[in-house]
Parts: sequence; structure tokens; C-alpha cells
Amino acid sequence: MTRPEPQPGEPVPFLDLGGINSRLQDEFDVAWKTVLDHGGYIGGPEVERFEREFAAYCETDACVGVANGTDALELILVGLGIGRGDEVILPTNTFVATAEAVCAAGARPRFVDVCPDTLLINPDAVQAAITPVTAAVIVVHLYGQMVDTGPISEITARHGLALIEDAAQAHGARHRARRAGSVGVAAGFSFYPGKNLGALGDAGAVVTSDLALTMRIRSLANHGRSHTDRHRHPQVGHNSRLDSVQAAVLSAKLRCLDADNAHRAAAMSLYRALLPDGVAVAVQPGAEPVYHLAVIQVGDRLTVTDALTAAGIGWGLHYPVPCHLQPAYQDGARPGQLPVAEAAAGRIVSLPMSPVLRETQVSRVCEVLRSVTR
Ligand SMILES: *Cc1c(COP(=O)(O)O)cnc(C)c1O
Repeated sequence: MTRPEPQPGEPVPFLDLGGINSRLQDEFDVAWKTVLDHGGYIGGPEVERFEREFAAYCETDACVGVANGTDALELILVGLGIGRGDEVILPTNTFVATAEAVCAAGARPRFVDVCPDTLLINPDAVQAAITPVTAAVIVVHLYGQMVDTGPISEITARHGLALIEDAAQAHGARHRARRAGSVGVAAGFSFYPGKNLGALGDAGAVVTSDLALTMRIRSLANHGRSHTDRHRHPQVGHNSRLDSVQAAVLSAKLRCLDADNAHRAAAMSLYRALLPDGVAVAVQPGAEPVYHLAVIQVGDRLTVTDALTAAGIGWGLHYPVPCHLQPAYQDGARPGQLPVAEAAAGRIVSLPMSPVLRETQVSRVCEVLRSVTR
């Protein structure tokens, strides 16, 4: 099913989820009918197949489908035995779910600052935040760009800490040939509809090459059930499972992911070509981002967002309040303590970005931006 070409002057949506998913409507119809026919709605062949495909895609040995990306991170922490009394280091510039997962596991989030050019976690800040109770570092591959985990994995190895990836925005990203999800002990992915690989509802996954951890997480996600005796529960678990129909949808969409990511990269190149140098968030050497978001930094943000709105162009803010300044997470740091993230929070704007965004739409967005930024 093809949608009509957008006309000049038409609104540019921030994210056209209907347009993204209508491309695969026939495959979704088959998936839904198949699941309806066999009557297994949770787990089953669709989930096993997607887990195999996604582990291979991420270049890891295993994948466990779960209910959402936040659960994926929480289950990794619990599966590693991280909880009460432990501190987990994470960047303050992330979606609040990263911190939420740390608290849900019973541990304490320790927020650190980011690098000014990429807005990704700063390795020097990680080193400075380590205490005797630090148990793990969560790197967040924000906006689709992988953190350069080289310096951080040296730190975690030296201090015996777990390195965990929040890859919820980075399906398919690479850094120096390593895939997002394959560099830490385990990674959490979200398949929330708006992510680069999005379901038709909530879904998530853990990927790892640690098979003992895989087994623990599989049990934890299924009520702490024993793998050999379904009536034995050796640990208190959760209910966090992947639905069959979502798994079938994700298998169909995984086949388009590389092409979709290439489309996003082409759109981002055009943004960069048409916008003033240094406005877009920087890409570090060796990185192959998948541009979940097209983030720019501007001085007078209100003027920019007003102009975009007036022109019918969608935009977003990711994220205008750093986690350490959120009411729920304020016990750790005070305003002024993580200055790079705090300054960036007032300057960032996310522009329309998706695998169905047209060149003409990117040009229009840039025309509006050029009229208000000098
Ligand atoms: C979306 C997201 C999550 C949470 O995923 P859900 O599936 O919504 O639970 C976690 N971290 C980051 C960086 C995200 O963007």
C-alpha cells in the first residue's frame, strides 16, 4: 500500500507511524491470522524465531523477548544480582526509564555528565563516580549513536563492574564494527512503536552472550519458574513476556531494519548538508549511528520551535529535564552539578526523522530553520 506523495506546504509530522507500518500491512495480516489460528498468544514459535533472528542481528548468542525495554534493563540488573546497597552509574541525559530500571531492581542510580559534542556518557565522569558500592555502569546509546565503550570497558574491567548497554534507541548501530548490544555483558532493547524497530504495542528484549545469565533472565521474566519443573519457583520473578503477534510483527520489520536505518542516515546527511556546521549533534570517529532521533542544538530554542510549529512541522525534546533534576530522582545531584547535560537540555530540539521521511520534507524543515538561525 503506497501513500500519496506529500504536497509542498503540507504539514511534516515528527514521526509518521501509520506511514511506517502501512508498508507492511499484508505481512501483519498474515501474522495476525496465523496466531489467531494456532491460538498461542504468548511465547511459541513466533517468539522463538524472533529471538533467534534478533540475537543473530545483534551478533550475540542469545535473546530473551520481554514485555518492554524498561523491564529488559531491570531483568539484566536482577539477573546479575545487582540490587539493594548497590550503585549503578548512568548518564543523566537519557530517557527516565534507564533510571527507573535501576530503582526497580532496588539499586541506587548515580547520574553522571555527558560529552558536549555527542551528549553521550563521559568516560572521565564514570571514573570519577566510582565508589566502593558501585556495581555496574549502564551506557545509553542515545539518539542512535553507540557510546565508544573502549575507555569505559577498561574502567569496568579494572574495577570488576558490569557494563550494561541501554540500546533502546540503537537497533543496528555500530561502533568500529561492533554492533549495539554486543559490547556489554548484556543489553536492553525496547520495541516501543516509535523506536527504529517498533512493535504494534509494547515489547522489548535482552540480548547477551552469557548463557547462564540468559537462563536466569528467562526464568525471572516468567514468574521465576524453574526450567525443568513448571511448578517450581526457585526465585521471586516477574511477569514480563513477549506476545506472539508482536514477535511476528517484529520479525517482519527486522527484515526492513537495515534499509530503514540507511534511509534515516541519508535523511541525516541531508540535514547536515543544509544546516549550518556544528548545529547537529556530532558523530564520533568510528561510529555508524542509526539516527533514532535527529537532534540539533540551538541558542534561542523557543524562536526555533515557534517557527517550526507555525510552519506545521513536528518537533520533540529529548530530553528537556536531565534525570538528576526530575522530582523523583533528585536525591543524588543538585542543579549545577552536571553542567554539560544541564546546558544541553535547554538547547536540544529533535527534528522529524523516520524511514518514510522525504527529501522534500527535510528541505522544508531546513528552510524554516535557516530563516530563524544565523
Ligand atoms: C524507550 C527507552 C527505554 C524504555 O523502553 P520502554 O519499552 O518504553 O520501556 C529505555 N531507555 C531509553 C534510552 C529509551 O529510549
